[in-house]
Amino acid sequence: MVNAVIFGAPGSGKGTYASRLQEKLDVDVIATGDIFREIMKESSPLAKEVKSYVDGGLLVPDDVVLEVLKQRLVKIPKGKGFILDGYPRTLDQAKALKSVARIDVVVRLIVPEWIIIERLSTRRICKSCGEVYNVRYLKPKVEGVCDKCGGQLYQRSDDTAEVIKNRILVYERQTEPILQYYKEQKVPIIEFKTESLEMPPEVAVEEILKGLKKLKLA
Ligand code: ADP
Repeated sequence: MVNAVIFGAPGSGKGTYASRLQEKLDVDVIATGDIFREIMKESSPLAKEVKSYVDGGLLVPDDVVLEVLKQRLVKIPKGKGFILDGYPRTLDQAKALKSVARIDVVVRLIVPEWIIIERLSTRRICKSCGEVYNVRYLKPKVEGVCDKCGGQLYQRSDDTAEVIKNRILVYERQTEPILQYYKEQKVPIIEFKTESLEMPPEVAVEEILKGLKKLKLA
């Protein structure tokens, strides 16, 4: 059983790899971004509030995120681990996490900015299951249709040039410093570096699995 945080800039591959690792490790994936996109479909005051942050590329306030996270964590069956995708994104979130769950490992994805921008502007998401595709680099078998569930693919409202820039800035300022915290906490960190747009996700997944095996976590 492993509890992992998958950590990296927007577009670094967190969701793509987490969904593939889920099958191999028998863990639940908790993606706070996916949870917020579900909430945004509702017509509630919370949906409106969340949308105002997400569409601006800003972070949803810590207290809202923590509440959402706690509600999801309690649904994990006993004895099953998890991968957190998109949480923590601030130092306070990392500290709050420590008080509600044990983290065995951080998987850190390192990707140059030009790849992030290219990937995000051509990214497509499944409306039904959230699976991630790319019209150029990770095409579905049938255009516009999810391989996994047959759902319709769409472009996220925050995958626009202006908002992408903001999300990268927010990541650099508020999220990246958390790594130092995990180093101090002596949580092992597995690093995977991407240098090409053509790299298939399976390569990253294999490398991450190797790292987990070395740590006896897989
Ligand atoms: P990406 O990693 O591609 O930026 P996500 O789907 O993880 O996308 O997140 C989308 C948006 O949801 C973020 O830009 C932010 O507004 C909000 N969000 C997700 N997770 C968090 C979090 N832990 N704290 C604050 N805001 C979050």
